[in-house]
Amino acid sequence: MRIVNAAGRACLVTGDGLIDIESASGSLPSDPQCLYGHWDDLRDWAAERTGSVPRPYRAEVLGSPAPRPRQVFAIGLNYREHAAESGMDVPETPVVFTKFPASITGPAALVNLPRGSVDFETELVVVLGREAYQVPASRAWDHVAGLTLGQDLSERELQLKPPAPQFNLGKSYPGFAPMGPELVTPDEFPDRDDIGLGCHLNGEQMQKSRTSDMIFSVGEIIAYLSSILPLYAGDVVFTGTPAGIGMARRPARFLSAGDELVTFAEGIGSMRTRFISLP
Ligand code: ZN
Repeated sequence: MRIVNAAGRACLVTGDGLIDIESASGSLPSDPQCLYGHWDDLRDWAAERTGSVPRPYRAEVLGSPAPRPRQVFAIGLNYREHAAESGMDVPETPVVFTKFPASITGPAALVNLPRGSVDFETELVVVLGREAYQVPASRAWDHVAGLTLGQDLSERELQLKPPAPQFNLGKSYPGFAPMGPELVTPDEFPDRDDIGLGCHLNGEQMQKSRTSDMIFSVGEIIAYLSSILPLYAGDVVFTGTPAGIGMARRPARFLSAGDELVTFAEGIGSMRTRFISLP
């Protein structure tokens, strides 16, 4: 099953276009964020639905498939080569921070660059479909609604500013969490733990890897987070970025006005993020 947020309404993606979930079901919510609280009902309806005529759509109308999660978790240093390029040891437990929900935008966003050094981080993003508290890794996928693609955009100067680095604000400017285009259920992937992903900046490949290279798998991340606090339906987890970020390049390559970043993942699609710099 594939879900999109089309101009604020949750829609099912079929081969021919979109089906509006509220209109076609007569009972499920139209708000994409509210849908995660009805995930089992959605799956039942989608399996049995008949009759609705799909309508075509343009990528420009798509928003984040999880526009207002209660919690957003993000994992740092979760690929070996990225830990190495960052000059850090491979962590023994997941490195966790947040992106505040005000940073979320869709897969076709125009993002204003704040002052500083803004970097890109291509990531697989997990959206929860059921509360998860003290869940073992072996049962973690039962709590996942689906997977989508994200950019963990990061202003490095604020992120790393002394006296103590605090990641959250530097990663939470408006538009710093593009997500989309589709929320794809795990059963749609040949192997949900081995998904190719990467990004191109102005046509040049900057990152390319596979989620099977992650140090902590999706199951291990959910087990770790949920060992400490409950994750709610609709919560979002950015699972870490592979090597190739701008800060680790020589010379460094940060984003500037006029840049176009295309982020892709197998089985999910691609996002096109453009950057401007308002005075
Ligand atoms: Zn990241």
